[in-house]
Amino acid sequence: MHDIVDLRSDTLTLPTPEMRDAMARAEVGDDVWEEDPTVKRLEALAAERLGKAAGLFVASGTMGNLISVVSQTQTGQEVVVDLDSHIFNYEVAGAAVVGNVQMRPVKTARGFLTPEQVREALRPANIHLPPTGLVCIENTHNRHGGTCCTPEEISAIAAVAHEASVPVHLDGARLFNAAIALRRPARDFVRDVDSVTFCVSKGLAAPVGSVICGSREVIAKARRVRKMLGGGMRQAGIIAAAGIVALERMVDRLAEDHANARTLADGVAKLPGLSVDLASVQTNIVIFRVERGGAAATAELVAGCAARKVKIHAIGPASIRCVIHKDIDAEDIGRTLDAFAEITRKW
Ligand SMILES: *Cc1c(COP(=O)(O)O)cnc(C)c1O
Repeated sequence: MHDIVDLRSDTLTLPTPEMRDAMARAEVGDDVWEEDPTVKRLEALAAERLGKAAGLFVASGTMGNLISVVSQTQTGQEVVVDLDSHIFNYEVAGAAVVGNVQMRPVKTARGFLTPEQVREALRPANIHLPPTGLVCIENTHNRHGGTCCTPEEISAIAAVAHEASVPVHLDGARLFNAAIALRRPARDFVRDVDSVTFCVSKGLAAPVGSVICGSREVIAKARRVRKMLGGGMRQAGIIAAAGIVALERMVDRLAEDHANARTLADGVAKLPGLSVDLASVQTNIVIFRVERGGAAATAELVAGCAARKVKIHAIGPASIRCVIHKDIDAEDIGRTLDAFAEITRKW
């Protein structure tokens, strides 16, 4: 049980004592000179887990996605993304501003492009058209509530893109949540993608960072782009050390977060005035709707919870998102449901 139950995001996770210890002891060097042994260890570990030749430690998921786009496209190309993707919605148009590429958002049913949609989005050779430079996929899908696609679905998309010689990037900020939920090795999801980023922060609880994995060629380019963006860090082993603990110790326990998310969703489903699509609750995110009273009721729920030391986050006028993570336990879920019940009883 925690004094404050903070369900606003899994980015709020605090580093574990083991991480702090590893950080204090980390052997370090200048990573721009490729002389930081701890950063190298994290990159090698990440690449090994994902079955890729190389890895690159970066400051954030946003930076990892931007570097992946810039290092695999050319000015004036088009990047095919799902309309609800994080890259398109929440990354400050970095790909357009820095990468000089155009985004091609495609509306999808579940946040995942189908192979047919990718085929339709690929541009034919024509003097009027921007050439397609990259296809991006997101797993788990943030805006769709942490939903997963399977390794086979990703491979099917990649096959279509690769037929047209277009590379594929996977935004796997929460890839390990998908791997745990579907009980598949993380490497299965990325077998056919050219680059993947995942966060060691978020649910894996490291304080800082993401890792890009791919072929040696892609990662060599990515290393140059990282430097260009000012992301070349020096004794970064201090933070990479926590990333190693994240990968080695924090992946399997994500199952607990998923179980807690399920309990929360089942509880919400029973409350009058709230509704949740239980099929969309597949990992650590629960998005539910406030069915009566609109924005005022949503604000009342958020404020009422805050008064009870439960922090939740409205993502729309009648929509709340709760994200479960390692600093939330089963008792905290009980307290949250009690708060929801007390507040909605008056509606
Ligand atoms: C959080 C997130 C990112 C960005 O990660 P930051 O480390 O916050 O920059 C990218 N993609 C998805 C799907 C995310 O959920």
